[in-house]
Amino acid sequence: MQKANRTISPLLLLTTLLASPFTVSAQEESTLDIYWIDVEGGAATLVVSPERESVLMDTGWPRPDARDTERIQAAMNDAGITEIDYLLISHFHRDHVGGFASLAERVPIGAIIDHGDSVEQGNEQGLALWNEYIALSGDKRRSVRPGDKLPLPRLEFSFIASHRQLVTPLEARPPNLLCDGVSPPDADQGENGHSLGYLISFGAFQFLNLGDLTPDREYALACPENRLGVVDLWQVPHHGGYGAIRPELAGVLTPTVAVVNNGPRKGATPDSLAVAQNTASIGDVWQSHRALTEDAANNTDESLIANLTEEDECEGHWIKATVQSDGRTWTMTNGRTGYSRNYESR
Ligand SMILES: [Zn+2]
Repeated sequence: MQKANRTISPLLLLTTLLASPFTVSAQEESTLDIYWIDVEGGAATLVVSPERESVLMDTGWPRPDARDTERIQAAMNDAGITEIDYLLISHFHRDHVGGFASLAERVPIGAIIDHGDSVEQGNEQGLALWNEYIALSGDKRRSVRPGDKLPLPRLEFSFIASHRQLVTPLEARPPNLLCDGVSPPDADQGENGHSLGYLISFGAFQFLNLGDLTPDREYALACPENRLGVVDLWQVPHHGGYGAIRPELAGVLTPTVAVVNNGPRKGATPDSLAVAQNTASIGDVWQSHRALTEDAANNTDESLIANLTEEDECEGHWIKATVQSDGRTWTMTNGRTGYSRNYESR
């Protein structure tokens, strides 16, 4: 939703811009910003539109010390926002919905969006998470289907996966040759397989976030034809854990950069990293954490890793993408060092 302080008349806005053409804030506000907030192997990805409207997918873990909420608030502060307009819960697992209660206590939240009812109410933990979610979300809750969009100006924000359903392209696409000889992975009927996924288009730039979507859904997005087109920036599914990245999807999406939201001892497994590094288009892999169980050869370059330590000593640095207003160029920044690299959209 539009912020009150943005309801400024176009004429007045033009006058203001002409009067002070070099204000930093006007320039800053024209970028699309994406933060991968470090929640130690959970997920919390914050998207802030050029108009400073915000979409947060996932809330990290349940923590009595509100660690993950504080890290989300630090990113919000950096982005210059004080509320979350759309909170998306990709699926009902602790590392994604667990931080919701503490976030809701501290941060105003607009709409709350999910894939539909939890399919894991049959076990004790799944039922507890679900009951807490229903109590917290109340009448702000709504579920989306593939093809639904968030009404964000200048951004096309489309849900492409929800509750195991996938988006269908409007036009026929050529077969994906990477599917030849690949047999479909077993279907995942749990919450991971029901995860929300979304695709953002901002001018020439595309960002894909598939939550914890599973190999069978990735295969179905890629085969027999690619349902998604090409993307520039990809948050790989399921923290880049074992088997998480399907070559037939990675190869046809042709991302330039892959982001792995792993923890120090969760995700970013050697097999997933190898798929990313063997995908010709992927120039750089960025990781939230050094995978401490692996050697340097099975991690990306240290300059592209936001956190290097065990969880107890971790300062929770983010990775940030800053996309220029035409969508043609973008920058990835390591929150630990300030080191950045520039990329061009295709
Ligand atoms: Zn997860």
